[in-house]
Amino acid sequence: MDYDQGVRVLKYHMHAGIGTHMDAPSHFFKEGRNIADIPLEELACPLRIIDVSKAAHPEYFISVEDLKQHENIYGKIPKGALVCGHTGWASRWSDPKSYRNEMRFPGFSKEAARLLFERQVAGIGIDTLSPDGSDTQDFPVHKLFLGAGKYLIENLTNLDRAPPSGASVIAFPPKLKSGTEVTLRVVAII
Ligand SMILES: [Zn+2]
Repeated sequence: MDYDQGVRVLKYHMHAGIGTHMDAPSHFFKEGRNIADIPLEELACPLRIIDVSKAAHPEYFISVEDLKQHENIYGKIPKGALVCGHTGWASRWSDPKSYRNEMRFPGFSKEAARLLFERQVAGIGIDTLSPDGSDTQDFPVHKLFLGAGKYLIENLTNLDRAPPSGASVIAFPPKLKSGTEVTLRVVAII
């Protein structure tokens, strides 16, 4: 229907893993939780932002040292937090070729992901296509987090507008049954 019939009705047909989106465990693991299975308690939580935007380059991996530096200033990353890597990559968004950069962009090192896992965070987010960065062979961060039933958020933006610590975040996806990925709005409450 359209306006000449009184109302415009739309139908969407799109990739689920596009723009700012969440990966559910079932993205990598058949028996893993789907988007609709992730409880709200894990999606409204403390926010920590690891700012490496001054140092990041296409082969950069956010390191254990970066996390320790953040913790030295802001305190231990709390259990249940969403931890986002701010690499500055989002500034390339309007230029897809530069954003994709032949799949070379910053991510988290597997050692850093392991430390966040030990901190029992709710999930990891990043302002690039993948928290595994340029490691497009083994996906250690995806496997660790999704394998443990946690979620990932990719292609975040405006991370420079939230403080490194002290904000909360709401990342509610539509309750997509059997969803392995889905687009969502991620909102920092400052
Ligand atoms: Zn992913």
